[in-house]
Amino acid sequence: MKVSSFEAKSIITKSNIPGIDHVINPYIGCQHACLYCYAEFMKRFTGHSGETWGDFLDVKQFGLDKIKPEKYDGKTILLSSVTDPYTPLEVKYENTRRILERLIGTRANIQILTKSRLVERDIDLFQQFERIQVAVSMNTLDTEFARIIEPRASNPQDRLKALQRVAGMGISTYVFLSPIFPKITDWKVIINAAQTITNEFHFENLNFRGHNTPRIMGLIAERYPDLSEYYNQIRRDPTMWDVIEEEIEDYCNVMKLNCKIEFHHGGFTKSK
Ligand code: SF4
Repeated sequence: MKVSSFEAKSIITKSNIPGIDHVINPYIGCQHACLYCYAEFMKRFTGHSGETWGDFLDVKQFGLDKIKPEKYDGKTILLSSVTDPYTPLEVKYENTRRILERLIGTRANIQILTKSRLVERDIDLFQQFERIQVAVSMNTLDTEFARIIEPRASNPQDRLKALQRVAGMGISTYVFLSPIFPKITDWKVIINAAQTITNEFHFENLNFRGHNTPRIMGLIAERYPDLSEYYNQIRRDPTMWDVIEEEIEDYCNVMKLNCKIEFHHGGFTKSK
C-alpha cells in the first residue's frame, strides 16, 4: 500500500449527484479495492494513472478551521462518493472523524455511506448531529463472493452488525443495495436479513464502465458462465434494468418498505 499525503484546496465540494449538495472525500483512493468500483476514474485526475486501484491512498491535509458548519445548514452532505470514509487506514489517520467533529452543530443532512464496520467507532459523534443517516452498502450475504468482489471491505455480516449498533443508538439508518448484480444479487434475502435493523433500502444498479467491464465480465465468465450472454445484453441495453426496477418497486410496495431506487444508466441520469 502506497500512502502519501497532500494539501487539499477544499474538503467539502459541490456535487452533481441527485439529492446531494456536497460531498466529502477525506482520501483519494480506496483500500477496499472493489472489483466493480467506478470511482477508479479518479486515478486519471490525481496522478495515479498506471497504479492499481486499492493499492494507493492519498491522505488529504486541510485546514479544519476552514470548515464552517453553519454554511451547510439545510444542505445534504455525503461522505463519501469516490472513497470509503472508513477505509482501513482511517483508523490511523482519522480524517473522517476529524471532519465530523468539526461539523458538529451544522443543520445539514449528513449522509454516511460505507462498507466498513469501523463506522461504529463514530457513534458518539453521530449522536451529536441533528440530521444524520448512516448506511452500509452491500449486495450479497455470501462471504466468499464478497471477498472476491470487495476484497478489503468488512464482510457483509459485520457491516450489518455495525449498522445494528448504530441503529440501536437511535440513529437513522438504511441499507444501500449496491451494486445489484442482475440475477446474482438476492436483494430480497438481504432485505430480510436487515429488516430488524432498518425499514429503509436504497438500490443501485451495476455500472459498466470502461475500466471495470473487463473485470466484471471476467468474473461472470468464470463463476457464472451461463449468465455471460445476459450480462452482455444488459450492458448493451440498459433498458433491461427497467424490469428489475419494477420488480423492486412492487416488492417494496407489498412489504411496505421505504425504498429509493437510484438506478442510473451511464452517469447519474436516472434517479427516483
Ligand atoms: S468501497 Fe466504494 S469507493 Fe471503495 S473501492 Fe469499493 S466501491 Fe470503490
